Amino acid sequence: MADTALMSIPGQVDPVPVARDITPRADGRIDLIGLPRARIRDVFGKAGLDAKQAKLRSKQVYHWLYHRGVTDFMHMTDIGKAMQPWLAERFVVGRPDVVDAQHSSDGTRKWLLKTGDGHEFEMVFIPDDARGTLCVSSQVGCTLNCTFCATGTMRLVRNLTPGEIVGQVMLARDALGEWPRGRMDLSDPANEDEESASAYRADGRLLTNIVMMGMGEPLYNFDHVRDALLLVMDGEGLALSKRRITLSTSGVVPMMYRCGEEIGVNLAVSLHAVTKGVRDEIVPINRKYGIEQLLQACADYPGASNARRITFEYVMLKDKNDSDDDARELIRLIRQYDLPAKVNLIPFNPWPGALYECSPPERIRRFSSIVFDAGISAPIRTPRGRDIDAACGQLKTAAEKKSRAQLDREQNSAEPRAASTA
Ligand code: SAH
Ligand code: SF4
Repeated sequence: MADTALMSIPGQVDPVPVARDITPRADGRIDLIGLPRARIRDVFGKAGLDAKQAKLRSKQVYHWLYHRGVTDFMHMTDIGKAMQPWLAERFVVGRPDVVDAQHSSDGTRKWLLKTGDGHEFEMVFIPDDARGTLCVSSQVGCTLNCTFCATGTMRLVRNLTPGEIVGQVMLARDALGEWPRGRMDLSDPANEDEESASAYRADGRLLTNIVMMGMGEPLYNFDHVRDALLLVMDGEGLALSKRRITLSTSGVVPMMYRCGEEIGVNLAVSLHAVTKGVRDEIVPINRKYGIEQLLQACADYPGASNARRITFEYVMLKDKNDSDDDARELIRLIRQYDLPAKVNLIPFNPWPGALYECSPPERIRRFSSIVFDAGISAPIRTPRGRDIDAACGQLKTAAEKKSRAQLDREQNSAEPRAASTA
């Protein structure tokens, strides 16, 4: 079991378990992954280094850790030969465990990962012509119960720690061979061979973008998501621009402003419906924070502009939210709130037990063209990695998990979500 504390989150009746930033390991060593420079200095100090040494070593280790992707203290070449084993005895640099890795015929890659205390979660890499997007999870499960989402049928197990979140990005960089000047892990023959490392680069599929669109609601794990993304954005860390990071929320209105202020990444909002009745049903958080409140929070989102538009995600569900009237209402709402917006039309990705069907292609095209004709970009997202069931938001796909999810769904049937979709 992870070392957890209970934390209240807005919109949740019961406090949820939150793992602390350092999870004790059986061998007594401390995993540095996910810790910011000041915390690394702190733990070095507690382990016995004097203030000056702790400061110097934390700066060096931070660089190797996040900028170079080195996991072995022995390969941190500017750290003295005596200091290296001292560090290795007390600390480790971990990664999430890989349970399974799949490669789709279209280049999409999916990893089933596991936390130290045995909880599975997923991450997906989606290469495109000009970019490569990593879809990162923020929680194991989700407390929200969007009716079209497979994750929504699972119970929340716990929030992921900053280390487990940033660890996904680091693992992807490992797998793609994308650390500056390789991984420097010379004990691994695969990394010595420049040809094999560059095999991933040959087709130009590099990790350029991150979307917080995996399992979970990132704004219900705000502190850990923020701390992880600060490491990802730090020029001396993973150094990915905030303009290349998008956080997707189902509409946790009270946290949206802080997201813009304290993280500053692009915002995507899972709108999915334009009337109260339908959105209450398919995105039940709407009963707490309605469409008007949500769109006002979008209008107030720090940093949104025509150059940095807010993305509205809209999953296309047959005969549910896909009519011409829905498209026109969407346009009206975007205009009413004067939002710098684009719309992503996502063909529904079915999963066993799902209550919906995807809208037919001609319906989606018609919806898209109505919105486009109003001067609002509304591309249809091409489903990716279907052969490995890799769509973001539809994670954990092993057959036995599906049936477990289904059981949870049935157990939850007393909740309003189920009642409204029965
Ligand atoms: N909890 C956050 C982020 C994770 S979900 C949110 O809801 O925004 C990421 C996106 O995938 C959301 O827009 C979600 O609505 C969408 N999604 C979930 N299940 C899907 C499915 N079966 N088909 C298509 N999109 C789905
Ligand atoms: Fe949670 Fe997002 Fe799925 Fe809704 S769509 S259940 S918020 S992961």
